[in-house]
Amino acid sequence: MKFTYKIPCACGYKVLFSTHGDGPFPEVVCGECGSPAHLMDPLSVSVTAERLLYRSNAGLESGDYSLSIVIGTMAVESFLTRLFLKLKRMDTYATTLSVPTRDQEEEWKRKLRERGGFAGREGSVGPADFVSNAITGMTFDEFVANNTVAQRIMATFPDAANQSAKHYFQKELFRRRNRIAHWGYVNSTEEEAQRCHTLAVAIVSILREMDRFKYGAS
Ligand SMILES: [Zn+2]
Repeated sequence: MKFTYKIPCACGYKVLFSTHGDGPFPEVVCGECGSPAHLMDPLSVSVTAERLLYRSNAGLESGDYSLSIVIGTMAVESFLTRLFLKLKRMDTYATTLSVPTRDQEEEWKRKLRERGGFAGREGSVGPADFVSNAITGMTFDEFVANNTVAQRIMATFPDAANQSAKHYFQKELFRRRNRIAHWGYVNSTEEEAQRCHTLAVAIVSILREMDRFKYGAS
C-alpha cells in the first residue's frame, strides 16, 4: 500500500513524501528552496498502524468513506497483532536468548487471526481479550475499567456507557467494516466514516496504554 504525506518545509512549500508498506521515507529535496527534508515515523509498536490511521483520515477527507472505514479497522488489527508479537518476542528472548523465527511469528499471527474479529465468536476468547490477557493479565473490559486513560477515552462515547467496551467496538467499528468487506456494502456516509475513524483512533490509543502498562512509557 502506498502512503503519501504532504509536510510543509521551513519555507512554507508543501513537500511530498511517499513510501510503500512499512518501508522508510526516502529523503527528498524541497521543490521551492532546495533544502533537504526528512520524514520520521512516530515511535510506535506498529508503524503500519500509524500509517493506516493517517490513510484512513485521508480517505475521510477525500470522500472515500467505505475505504476509510476498512483501512481504519486494519489499523486496529495491525496494532493488536504487533502488540502481541512484541510480547512473544520479549518472552522468547527472555527464555531462549534468541529472537523468534519468521515462521514462528507467522504461526502466532495465524493463531491470532483464527480467533475472529475483535470480540471473537460467542463462547470463545477473541483477539481483544486474548491479547489483553497476555499483556496485562486482564480482559479487555477489565483493563479499560482499571486504566484512567482508557476511561477518559470511553467517556468520549456516551452511548457506550454501561456496556462492554469490547462489544461496543465490535458492534460499532468491526461490524461496519464487515458489512463493507464481506457483504460489499459501498454506500458508507461521511458521518459513518468520521465515527469509525474516531473509534479506530480510540481503540489504538487504548492498545497503546496496554503497551505502556506492560513496558512503561514509550
Ligand atoms: Zn523549502
